Amino acid sequence: MTRGRPLVAANWKMNPAGVADAIALARAVAAAADPCHTRLDVAVFPPTVWLRSVALELQGGPVEIGVQDSYWEPAGAYTGATSVTMVAGWCRWTLVGHSERREYFGMTDDDVARAAAAAVAAGLGALICVGETLEEYQAGQRRQVVAREVRSALSLVEPRSAEIAFAYEPVWAIGTGHTAVPEKVQEVLELIRAEAGGTLGGDAGSSLRVLYGGSVKPDNIVSFITLPDCDGALVGSSSLRADEFGTIIRSVAEEVTA
Ligand code: PEP
Repeated sequence: MTRGRPLVAANWKMNPAGVADAIALARAVAAAADPCHTRLDVAVFPPTVWLRSVALELQGGPVEIGVQDSYWEPAGAYTGATSVTMVAGWCRWTLVGHSERREYFGMTDDDVARAAAAAVAAGLGALICVGETLEEYQAGQRRQVVAREVRSALSLVEPRSAEIAFAYEPVWAIGTGHTAVPEKVQEVLELIRAEAGGTLGGDAGSSLRVLYGGSVKPDNIVSFITLPDCDGALVGSSSLRADEFGTIIRSVAEEVTA
């Protein structure tokens, strides 16, 4: 199977503060994605409270929508949680295991595996985030941490009815302005493809989309998207600025045609 189209994804985190701003940002993303949508996929992950309004704004357009976190039980007494089945019919993606969910909300590797399995079983694409912390990086454990996270995240996934993709996000590069060295990123993207391909079997590795995330900006996107194993980017702070995110989308689209 051939490699997939690039995916440029926007993680809005707990932003913007109001629904009008969320809708305006979604509209601007759609305008930027529209001329490029034959060459790449664009997705936004708004806060759950704005998800429906943003989905209605984006309906019928080129931009896909995803939820930032989802719980594996379909319904029940789980205060504050959103189940995969609640969003599967109208969302394309769920983000699974973002480092902020792991760090601030206690998400474990086992939770990531359950969330990923539930998502793909419900037909919801799972964009699974993996990456080492600063301490792990300094201890030279980057490869072993990422390999463990990839294998664990896929450990409960049954034959799939939805896409699985990965985002390599070194925790120390998220929201810090520090990016990983592209050559080192390439080594890890290649590792993720090999580990996930081995676990999923068949030709899954070659068609798997593997993204980089961590302080991606208009002035560094090209250094990542041109890496042999990079299929796109997961963008946080720059995705809240329509002009910057639009530039990132256009830069990726240009590299597809280049
Ligand atoms: C993220 O939250 O996934 C992220 C990559 O954030 P930032 O681009 O701000 O580093």
